[in-house]
Amino acid sequence: MKIAMKTPLVEMDGDEMTRVIWGWIKEILIKPYVELKTEYYDLGLPERDRTDDEVTVRSAEATKRLGVAVKCATITPNAQRVEEYSLKKMWKSPNGTIRRILDGTVFRSPILVKGITPYVPGWKKPIAIARHAYGDIYNAVESRVPAGGKAYLVIDDGKGGETRELIHDFSKGEGIVQGVHNVDSSIAAFARSCFNYALSENLDVWFGAKDTISKIYDHRFKDIFFEIYQKEYAERFEKSGLQYMYTLIDDVVARVMRSEGGMLWVCKNYDGDVMSDMVATAYGSLGMMSSALVSPDGKYEYEAAHGTVTRHYYRHLNGEETSTNPVATIWAWTGALKKRGELDDTPELCEFAKRLEGATISTIQSGYMTGDLAPLFKLDGVEIHRLNTRDFLNKIAEKL
Ligand code: NAP
Ligand code: MG
Repeated sequence: MKIAMKTPLVEMDGDEMTRVIWGWIKEILIKPYVELKTEYYDLGLPERDRTDDEVTVRSAEATKRLGVAVKCATITPNAQRVEEYSLKKMWKSPNGTIRRILDGTVFRSPILVKGITPYVPGWKKPIAIARHAYGDIYNAVESRVPAGGKAYLVIDDGKGGETRELIHDFSKGEGIVQGVHNVDSSIAAFARSCFNYALSENLDVWFGAKDTISKIYDHRFKDIFFEIYQKEYAERFEKSGLQYMYTLIDDVVARVMRSEGGMLWVCKNYDGDVMSDMVATAYGSLGMMSSALVSPDGKYEYEAAHGTVTRHYYRHLNGEETSTNPVATIWAWTGALKKRGELDDTPELCEFAKRLEGATISTIQSGYMTGDLAPLFKLDGVEIHRLNTRDFLNKIAEKL
């Protein structure tokens, strides 16, 4: 008998190779076991174009209503894509649109298997990274200042008052100046998303900024996080045996390097941009990085961190077999099914998702994997078999 679902998942289909893999995962690994209920939205580029991107907005609204979504990778159009798909317009990134509507934060977490050793050998558990995706240098105003000029920080308080502070007197030579900002509401939403994700994944939270140097700006981040933690989360963290730690960013970097992993590393915008690439690379392949968007009021959208794997898709269209790694996309499905099971109190759905993850990991650990993993894999006594995507999925189904 198949596992029943109470509430549908929001299903956001996508583009290219990942769209192909999407269908295969459902066919081979999910539908034989689960009476799958989804509210389907086609976020493939042709449908986004046909609906003037309305479908993306509707899928995000559905996520607000139903609480859990699973998303396939999608093309963010550039000039070349506008031509390739004869688009009406260069539509915005669907991920950006969904993130704005849900006011969410993106969390990335690597999927670990025995046989693929992180470049930092001490890292035994995944390190999840949260990046604040608003403000700081990403919405900055910058200028060059000529020799003899002066730059001021001027604040108009909106009530006729003004404060003015000298940033620098450039009398000794030309230079540069930058104005950055953030807003309390965005920092607070970020904090809540981080604490929700940590509780959901059972992770300690480590947050680092530079409040000793930036006594107002970075200090505000520290204060908002602390206030929200104390008022809304401390009790639940204590009950779960989890910790929240704030320390200087330099100290966090040093601690992360010598840790064994297993925490949520909360990063300001720039730190997250840089550190997420470092952490992802250190764990191996893009095909093994999962991603979740979490809103401050606890709505979840799960996806792979990689894109639509265009190069493989063109080979697929030519009738060639491809060995594209489906693991991160499988994790999008298991993440969503687990969360749905948790919210609906259907433990058999959670159990199924965990088994599917287990079967995937043990398939790789017994030597069966896609081409991206084969050169990274090394486990005593295990022979490596490089499979195409479909054979790999079938191998997982055998284990399952
Ligand atoms: P990509 O699709 O992530 O692929 C970049 C390269 O990484 C691939 O060519 C492949 O290398 C390797 N790779 C990524 N995922 C893999 C997997 N699952 N298995 C095996 N190899 C994998 O990034 P892109 O080529 O820069 O972007 C392609 C399209 O995806 C773009 O239109 C972009 O807008 C979109 N995109 C969407 C999302 C999203 O929806 N979240 C995120 C990023 C990009 P080899 O070719 O060397 O094998
Ligand atoms: Mg980056």
